[in-house]
Amino acid sequence: MSSVVSSKSPNVNMQEAEFGFSILFFLFSFGIIYPPQEFESVGLTINNVFSSYLGSSDIEFIQYHLRRTCLTLLIHSILPTLYVVCYYLKFGDIIEYNAEVFPIFVLWNFLIFFLMILPVISATVIYYWCKDNYANHPLAQNLQKYSRENWIQAARDINAENRRDNKLCMKTSAIHSVVATANWIMKVSYYSVSVAHQSDTALIAIRSDSHDLSEISTESVQFVNIKVKPTRVGVSEFIIRINALDFKTLQDRMMRPITILDGVTFSKTVIDRFIEVFKQQVLLNPTYTTDEVILDLCFACMQARPNVKLQKKCTNEFGNDDTNNEHGCTNCYCRPMWCVDCLAKWFASRQDQQEKEIWLQQKCSCPMCRAKFCILDVCYVELNR
Ligand SMILES: [Zn+2]
Ligand SMILES: [Zn+2]
Ligand SMILES: [Zn+2]
Repeated sequence: MSSVVSSKSPNVNMQEAEFGFSILFFLFSFGIIYPPQEFESVGLTINNVFSSYLGSSDIEFIQYHLRRTCLTLLIHSILPTLYVVCYYLKFGDIIEYNAEVFPIFVLWNFLIFFLMILPVISATVIYYWCKDNYANHPLAQNLQKYSRENWIQAARDINAENRRDNKLCMKTSAIHSVVATANWIMKVSYYSVSVAHQSDTALIAIRSDSHDLSEISTESVQFVNIKVKPTRVGVSEFIIRINALDFKTLQDRMMRPITILDGVTFSKTVIDRFIEVFKQQVLLNPTYTTDEVILDLCFACMQARPNVKLQKKCTNEFGNDDTNNEHGCTNCYCRPMWCVDCLAKWFASRQDQQEKEIWLQQKCSCPMCRAKFCILDVCYVELNR
């Protein structure tokens, strides 16, 4: 077949070709199952390619996912068969040749048989799900638990809530996302959608785990596993896994508080830790006394009262006031307008993100007048009585 002159035996060449083909097919399948960013940006995903069949998840959320789960299951189950067919078309004769040499051929044939009937099995399951307008689909079965007569009623409610602006949709991993509407919480996976009505569901944070982003960086990412436990008979519980930073966002959308089990801790972010150290240092600084009661709100967060004032208090390494030095701190004449937390965040945001260890020794500029200040110039406001 090959006219390439090679010192290797034709058999070795063939094995390399088979290996190369298998790797290529594996990559192709992987790209279909876990579409990389590049595939997604050009719309090369199952959901995108079949969008006209699937419809819009914004308009008919439940119907969209009924169709999507069936289609995804079918396409994924076809991949092994496609591999076997392509393999035979390309290398069929070689396999027969090998068969005389290796008894493994029997095992190989059995594996191929299994891979070939996979789509038949999945097609049977999908046929069963789709019968009577999806009545047997696990998602419809689950919704049936909420409206005895017909699951369509519950589906309509969810669709309507999903169309509102206040819904929360979080992609929690490559294959999962969490959708929370006013009354429902749902976990969307490849072949299933778990649903629970918030009114009779307990949410329990059962575990948290941290992972370092890289070996050299001190930053880590933390995940929280939350068990969604419906008390309604027949509705099964499920677990959602979210980034700890999204915990508050999810909690704010839930009707009930999320119970946090003992032992589940939330590690602080770098900024949180910096704010703490910043405040400890400010406590050691002189205070700024005033007769004026501050009635405004912090210019940044609009929540707290401004409680710090910038006053040049620092001296240079020789103990001299260096106001006139171009690198020294300068006087700020602004009224107290920021709270200490916001000023600490502002301070952190103006620093070199790579050199967190020396942030506290650095300078920053007043967010209002641009006067230069350091941590020693931040003074708590004290009311003169
Ligand atoms: Zn503030
Ligand atoms: Zn200022
Ligand atoms: Zn200073």
